[in-house]
Amino acid sequence: MRMSGEVATSPAPAVVLVEPSLPENVGAVARVIGNFGGGELRLVNPCDHLSSTALSLATHSAKVLREARIFATLNDALADRQFVIGTSARKRERHARPLPLPQVGTLLPDSGTRLAVVFGRESSGLTNEELALCHACVHVPTQGPASSLNLSHAVGVVLYEMTRNPPVGATPAASALATTRQVNGLKTHLFEVLDAVGFLKPGAEASIRQSFADLMGRARPTDLDVRLLRGFLHRVQVTLRRAGRLES
Ligand code: SAH
Repeated sequence: MRMSGEVATSPAPAVVLVEPSLPENVGAVARVIGNFGGGELRLVNPCDHLSSTALSLATHSAKVLREARIFATLNDALADRQFVIGTSARKRERHARPLPLPQVGTLLPDSGTRLAVVFGRESSGLTNEELALCHACVHVPTQGPASSLNLSHAVGVVLYEMTRNPPVGATPAASALATTRQVNGLKTHLFEVLDAVGFLKPGAEASIRQSFADLMGRARPTDLDVRLLRGFLHRVQVTLRRAGRLES
């Protein structure tokens, strides 16, 4: 049996809970974060995470709860993250085949990368739009008839696997991956240009935007890639403006 401190780990990922509704679960998640390397807890529009119930479930990791950062949206919670792993209890449209958790080590970028792992609502999990903000999605394979784990159990199993299965196959440039904030800036810029050149067909705007957003998620652009593409988009806008096809 490994003792605490024996496992060589990368910096602990930020654990993000989207709209958790039960203080018991949030407290139990804080406890399990304390068990596996003490990463930070981020909460998107949560229930009362400092209720006495939550604090008592957190036991010796009440500090994780007290220091939890609260965000209005998942996008805000991920702004500084470079690689985001979503989790799902079931198959999804956009991530039709979530990766089985034991393979998580194969998709992690190098150890300097700022990671987040995102968990969904107890009632309905993550929406497809939220999963589209993730670079990958993992699923904990289960044996029984029910595939859905309790939220805090899911966090425990995922953190256990990530600490015993540290990153492999790191690409040298991985720690230069763009942050979610940078990629969002790129998306907004790209959508402006798509609109200006008449690429967003009326009626299909949302699905075209989503396809480009998905593509950028899969591409995992670096900081340099984002700057290159934004430079190009800027040049397109300058050209359109000169041609009188874009307001200044
Ligand atoms: N009824 C919801 C289940 C939500 S369980 C649904 O069908 O999606 C709450 C959260 O725990 C999920 O959003 C996911 O983040 C995590 N979770 C539960 N079971 C999981 C599993 N088997 N694999 C990966 N994550 C799981």
